[in-house]
Amino acid sequence: MATFRQGVNGGLPGTSLIAMCCVCGLVRARKAFAGDPDRWVTKRAYEHMYGMRLVGNPVTHTYCSGCHTDFMQRVRPTRQTLAP
Ligand SMILES: [Zn+2]
Repeated sequence: MATFRQGVNGGLPGTSLIAMCCVCGLVRARKAFAGDPDRWVTKRAYEHMYGMRLVGNPVTHTYCSGCHTDFMQRVRPTRQTLAP
């Protein structure tokens, strides 16, 4: 029970896509364990955390948790009638 494995379930080293927010540019930090909540950091912080360059790595664009909430609030249906 005391064995600690370096490999994390659900994450293939070197092949995981880097999720970047298309609005504010924050990058999602890797999960340390299953169930770890999403953490969004700046590109610079990400590179510092993992000692790597983001340039040249596969990036997928998405919304970070903050921008997603903001986006959902903005697109919520409004009953304003623009037409006469
Ligand atoms: Zn964002």
